[in-house]
Amino acid sequence: MASIAIEGVRKSFGNVPVLHGVDLDVRDGEFIVLVGPSGCGKSTLLRMIAGLEDVSDGTIRIGDRAVNDLAPKDRDIAMVFQSYALYPHMNVANNMSYSLRLRKTAKEKIGQAVEAAAGKLGLETLLARRPKALSGGQRQRVAMGRAIVRQPKAFLFDEPLSNLDARLREQMRAEIKRMHGDLGATSIYVTHDQIEAMTLADRIVAMHGGVVQQVGSPLDLYDRPANLFVAGFIGSPA
Ligand code: ADP
Ligand code: MG
Repeated sequence: MASIAIEGVRKSFGNVPVLHGVDLDVRDGEFIVLVGPSGCGKSTLLRMIAGLEDVSDGTIRIGDRAVNDLAPKDRDIAMVFQSYALYPHMNVANNMSYSLRLRKTAKEKIGQAVEAAAGKLGLETLLARRPKALSGGQRQRVAMGRAIVRQPKAFLFDEPLSNLDARLREQMRAEIKRMHGDLGATSIYVTHDQIEAMTLADRIVAMHGGVVQQVGSPLDLYDRPANLFVAGFIGSPA
């Protein structure tokens, strides 16, 4: 696993600025939850860390390496989206092993990695199924399995549970928490859901207006919100 450092990162689309200089240190093994109103740049920040979007200014480091110029596949980061983005023509096992096959990993090693991930996520009996034969929760598990098989340095989650019903969300929340405990994986997790933020986060990062408004433990933000925006999100009177 690895730390992630975001240093003075700015982003504009054309001449429209979205991020005005974001600084954030994510410790090795830490679970960061990123919250903020729709359109404030959460997905853009994750996409820049993953290398799917250029940085307009500033530096992103993974471990001690600046990655601004590295292609996504060389950053060793896994991203889990809200739309499961599974390959419809591949069964569960092949969906999970795709990134390993792409990297020409030995067949035996691929088999072991898929088996281990399937075991962690309760997918053992579903490996031969196509995505269309799975429930929403099962698909989201496969998406997570796909992320964990190659033991990346960090996980980026972009509202991964927002398409699921409340009961499944709760179940998957517990699973993600357990997975994080097991793997000790450095994670940045974007959500709208206060309960997810409060239960999953080592630290919460509240973003608004293109800048970070506050970083702290769930209790810090609850007890001492820096401003009305943070207070409104956490739901405690300022
Ligand atoms: P969030 O995930 O917090 O809802 P986004 O990162 O998706 O916000 O978007 C931040 C802002 O950047 C929005 O105003 C959005 O319209 C704009 N934006 C995102 N991607 C692009 C793009 N590829 N081209 C132009 N504008 C974009
Ligand atoms: Mg988004």
